[in-house]
Amino acid sequence: MKGFFIHIMELVDLKDLSLESLEAFLLGLGKEKYRAKQIFKWLYQRGATTFDDMTDLSKDFRRELSLKSRISSFVPDTVEISKDGTKKYLFVLEDGSSIESVLIPEEDRATLCVSTQVGCAMGCRFCLTGTFNLKRNLRCSEIVNQFCAVQRTDRITNVVLMGMGEPLANLDNVIPALKIMTCPDGFQISSRRVTVSTSGLVPEIEKLGSAVTVNLAVSLNATTDEQRDLLMPVNRAYPIAKLIAACRKFPLPNRRMITIEYVLVRGVNDSIEDAKRLVKLLKGIPVKVNLIRFNEYAGCEFKSPEQAAIDRFHSYLLEKNLTVITRASRGADISAACGQLRARMEKDDTN
Ligand code: SAH
Ligand code: SF4
Repeated sequence: MKGFFIHIMELVDLKDLSLESLEAFLLGLGKEKYRAKQIFKWLYQRGATTFDDMTDLSKDFRRELSLKSRISSFVPDTVEISKDGTKKYLFVLEDGSSIESVLIPEEDRATLCVSTQVGCAMGCRFCLTGTFNLKRNLRCSEIVNQFCAVQRTDRITNVVLMGMGEPLANLDNVIPALKIMTCPDGFQISSRRVTVSTSGLVPEIEKLGSAVTVNLAVSLNATTDEQRDLLMPVNRAYPIAKLIAACRKFPLPNRRMITIEYVLVRGVNDSIEDAKRLVKLLKGIPVKVNLIRFNEYAGCEFKSPEQAAIDRFHSYLLEKNLTVITRASRGADISAACGQLRARMEKDDTN
């Protein structure tokens, strides 16, 4: 049994391959390039989980494929449904670690929030995921399998890489996963409906922009370097001015805006002075600002802001003609809200 397991792990997982890589893989087996599109459709549009599902490929071809490759797939370990309809899926991975994905249904859309790492190394002081450190990067297949599994039961129209982890610290896997999501033969999600959120890894923002066309969300969360250094250690390497410059240069999908995420924390970054500095920082950049109420969790040192502080901040930005929304926190009763994802890492967490 152990030998069988090792053998499986050595096979190429087809869900680790972008369309171009699958084409190259098939050419290496002496097959036609167009077969890659056929297989992609089976995997991502028709939900195939075995080679036998792929009935328009010859039996011999399917057998050959099964000797050289495998198809991983996820079945959720648990699904929790919030009072507001938000659904949290827990997946246990092949190595025993676990991750979460959150589906947020709204009137006109259904957004899947996907994880990209087990834990996170960025250590933001207000984030529960960050307190668990990084266990490992997710593979491309583990990113797209979240989508495949949810798609089996629910409609997905939008994707945000805002679950556990820092997507830009795992670009080798995130870029092929984004290609599969936006590929017309893959999940067929328009690049206008895919958003990658980052804490601000400046060189990787540029790499992302040159590799794929997707929306960018930047978790700014502060308006001075002093504040941001404290909240988000990444700021010591890439201070606000560098981050804002990278936003200015980012090649967005047609007529789109960068999303600036700003978690309001009581007495830390929720004053009217902060709002004024924020307006100055964002001048001349096509942005929409997402204000997020800080979600408290057991043991955290910060507090959620007063509603009056949120309203004041929101109104000031509006007055200055910024596009702003205060995001209603969804799924808080099932710990699915922003910054609450933690999955089951405790047993492996030695730090
Ligand atoms: N690592 C990426 C994406 C995952 S975090 C990033 O940092 O952008 C997704 C969002 O959750 C970020 O905007 C982050 O600032 C926010 N967040 C983290 N902890 C939070 C908390 N306790 N309450 C509210 N939002 C939080
Ligand atoms: Fe990581 Fe994002 Fe949490 Fe910071 S806010 S610790 S980058 S998941």
